[in-house]
Amino acid sequence: MTASANSASTRHDDPAPQSRQLFERAQAVTPGGVNSPVRAFQSVGGTPRFMVRGEGAYLWDADDNRYVDLVSSWGPMINGHAHPDVVAAVRDTAVHGTSFGTPGMGEIDLAQEIIDRVEPVEQVRLVNSGTEATMSAVRLARAFTGKQKIVKFAGCYHGHVDALLASAGSGVATLGLPTSPGVTGAQAADTLVLPYNDLEAVRQIFAEQGDEIACVITEAAAGNMGTVAPVPGFNAGLKELTSANGALLIMDEVMTGFRVSAAGWFGIDGVAGDLYTFGKVMSGGLPAAAFGGRADVMSRLAPTGPVYQAGTLAGNPIAVASGLANLRAADASVYAALDRNADRLRELIGSALSAEGVVHQIASAGNMLSIFFSETPVHDYEQAQAQQTWRFPAFFHELLARGIYPPPSAFETWFVNAAMDDAAFEQIADALPHAARAAAAATAPEASK
Ligand code: PLP
Repeated sequence: MTASANSASTRHDDPAPQSRQLFERAQAVTPGGVNSPVRAFQSVGGTPRFMVRGEGAYLWDADDNRYVDLVSSWGPMINGHAHPDVVAAVRDTAVHGTSFGTPGMGEIDLAQEIIDRVEPVEQVRLVNSGTEATMSAVRLARAFTGKQKIVKFAGCYHGHVDALLASAGSGVATLGLPTSPGVTGAQAADTLVLPYNDLEAVRQIFAEQGDEIACVITEAAAGNMGTVAPVPGFNAGLKELTSANGALLIMDEVMTGFRVSAAGWFGIDGVAGDLYTFGKVMSGGLPAAAFGGRADVMSRLAPTGPVYQAGTLAGNPIAVASGLANLRAADASVYAALDRNADRLRELIGSALSAEGVVHQIASAGNMLSIFFSETPVHDYEQAQAQQTWRFPAFFHELLARGIYPPPSAFETWFVNAAMDDAAFEQIADALPHAARAAAAATAPEASK
């Protein structure tokens, strides 16, 4: 199928023979055929598409099907795919060598860019993934406070750090896992899991165990149980309780950082964390991430302090150049376009589902959004899990078959990018009524009726 043949009204029942063959090969050499579980389409069924090319708002798969991309590499591609500045930065850097294992100039510029954008961040350390960032931030918080316990919220995902996998969102939620085998009791024992958006529960745990709590880690706005914004006062309450009890507040902005505003979620609610974690947008799609925050805390890291943390490829020159170009390309007009595109998408999804009488909530946190097939608004993981998830696979596949690529899970955020144009929205608008009809026609499995 070519780009022109892939019009919204066309539905192809067997559109991906190349992807299917590739998936078979991949499954022979990689568990489940994927290098990150949600990519396997397990909760929606069917063949994961092997993407070979991206440009602007679109992706092309191995069968040359074109898709309007509503995943944006799970967040990073705010400027769209293959943005010329990012591509040029990667090319220009790579020709001079790919890694030196020494300090590099780009690392200073990227750290400075982050510090300039997010006021509470005074120092930054670059790492390779969001997982490394949260793992390191928790270690640093424990060392700084001399306490062991950490508080996290059910449905929040902070990467696959052993201690943070309990009741995690993202793939853990998609696959319906309570936590992961391989995480020992000892590794999880110091993790206290509370319901998201429940400040009273946080108050109570501090009253009972405040002397032992090193930090609270929270997604600045949750995006890994679907999109669930903090209720007014929740983040501010976390700040107050952590400060009052000698604990640190770790704002995980791996997803929200530099996406929902130039300063991430901090730019929206202004609540200052002690430590921050970043990834995705600040890497421009290459493997780079960061943690940062108060200088008095960050300076406890080796080599200035005793808290060990390191990385052979940390601050890799190509990843740094890519991230810097992605951030510098994201000016005010890009953030305005992201907000506008998210509004437009919400409106189209809402009217298509309403027209078919499908119960739904469109949840938002800035320009992040997701759909819950539920009657009432969702504020925590329990409510997210109570949605009619069985409607999602039919909804998803009708969109996919019409050249729209939404996240393949009912528990993931939809990510717009600034490159989406009228043609992309026309395609979405044409496809949505079919998807809404499929969601309306879906039937619950016996157990959930
Ligand atoms: N924290 C949040 C909020 C995330 O959304 C993610 C990944 O989606 C991570 C941490 C982990 O990042 P990575 O997948 O780069 O390890």
